[in-house]
Amino acid sequence: MDGLDFAGKVAVVTGGGQGLGRSHALALAARGARVVVNDLGGTADGAGSDTSVAQRVADEIRAAGGEAIGDTHSVLDGARIIENAIDSFGRVDIVINNAGILRDVAYHNLTGEQWRLVLDVHLNGTHAVTRAAWPHMRAQGYGRIVMTVSAAGIYGNFGQANYSAAKLGMLGLANTLAVEGGAKGIRVNSIAPVAASRLTETVMPAKLLEGLKPELITPLVLCLAHESCPANGALYEAGAGWYARVRWERSIGWSSPPEDGVTPEALAAAWDRIEDFTGAIHPKSVVESLAEVGRQAGVDLTLS
Ligand code: NAD
Repeated sequence: MDGLDFAGKVAVVTGGGQGLGRSHALALAARGARVVVNDLGGTADGAGSDTSVAQRVADEIRAAGGEAIGDTHSVLDGARIIENAIDSFGRVDIVINNAGILRDVAYHNLTGEQWRLVLDVHLNGTHAVTRAAWPHMRAQGYGRIVMTVSAAGIYGNFGQANYSAAKLGMLGLANTLAVEGGAKGIRVNSIAPVAASRLTETVMPAKLLEGLKPELITPLVLCLAHESCPANGALYEAGAGWYARVRWERSIGWSSPPEDGVTPEALAAAWDRIEDFTGAIHPKSVVESLAEVGRQAGVDLTLS
């Protein structure tokens, strides 16, 4: 993957006006991509809008000799954003789904509006942009999509029920798009970053924030957005210059012949074995996941 060059490629970076998105947009443009810097320019909790936020980054790219346009649609208007990319640059090769807001609140106080707004920006917005780019990527037999998810979704986090649900929704979308897009040259991967931004500056200690430069997340995004991207359907955690792959792990488990039936008492007695990760496996697909169930039922599902 030496010399990661993006000449000839068109990238859409949602939420590209500040924080992580700005860093990704600047880096992609510096390496030759033509970039649509999308940003609604609202507050961290998603209120209002400011058209100058996207424009400023597009101007910064142009001032440095790159090519970019600002786009101020909400990601919920994904079709308009992709239309803008096609009208301005004639194609779309890369979508970095990065726009985000927070409405943190303990679940017992969560309102319908707080749930909807967060699900809208992260999950429905990601879908709107990605769905609009998808036919172009399929037709050209090439695409790179990066979903910006979160450790809050992977592990759960107090006060972030809406955000966690939205982020894991994005991961589920990424996993299926990786399956559907693989044969069409489209690779879809997810990152769970930790970086200093207005979303974290009020909840993390200053000392920690110092090391969490958004620019340290961008190299991972560039690897995943590049033609030589080695991954598809993968998830990475990153922050402060650390990068790691995350995968599902499943215990060997416990089984009983299906014809014998299973009582809750028998299951309770086998609990330690169900929980025991000794010799654990890491299913990479639904077929691999179902293999054990098929074996139990006497059907070889790997052949179907
Ligand atoms: P940020 O607030 O600096 O950037 C988010 C950008 O998204 C803002 O510029 C905002 O205007 C834009 N945006 C919000 N709603 C939009 C909409 N409807 N349409 C278009 N643009 C919209 O925050 P950030 O930390 O850089 O966050 C970037 C992404 O990374 C988010 O998806 C966030 O959830 C995710 N993330 C960040 C961290 C972290 O540690 N910073 C951790 C996990 C996940």
